[in-house]
Amino acid sequence: MKIKVFGWLLFFDRLNTKDMLVRRHWRSPLDDNICVICNAYVYEYRAHLFFECNFSCRVWNYLQIDWSHGSNIQECISQARQRFGHPFFFEVMLTAAWNIWILRNGRTFRGIRATFVAWRCNFVHDILLLSHRLKDSFRHRLVDWVNSLM
Ligand SMILES: [Zn+2]
Repeated sequence: MKIKVFGWLLFFDRLNTKDMLVRRHWRSPLDDNICVICNAYVYEYRAHLFFECNFSCRVWNYLQIDWSHGSNIQECISQARQRFGHPFFFEVMLTAAWNIWILRNGRTFRGIRATFVAWRCNFVHDILLLSHRLKDSFRHRLVDWVNSLM
């Protein structure tokens, strides 16, 4: 899945999270529909998996992306983008969320434990790969920012 398609599905809440599969009657509400990347025994739905889960909170803290302002997803994104203060907000945010989704799928379908170290390794790999498609000045700023995270 291309990351832009993923972004679209995330934004419009069309990803196959467990709550979505229940809503589409592809899963029973009686199945195990708990988030697989934290130990909170919380139903897996978009807001939990990507924004409220302990795992995701650690990711956003690490990236210094603050989702706590705004009353709907558009407002949250706009506020988070402003507060983040770098021109590559969407690249970072989508790559981060994409890698949360990848780890969640690894855990769901292959039983691989989701760890922050694995997330960070995949995130850095993907964002540096993506940086090659950016203009020079933009790329240098992104690479400097990624290095400042280490
Ligand atoms: Zn969770």
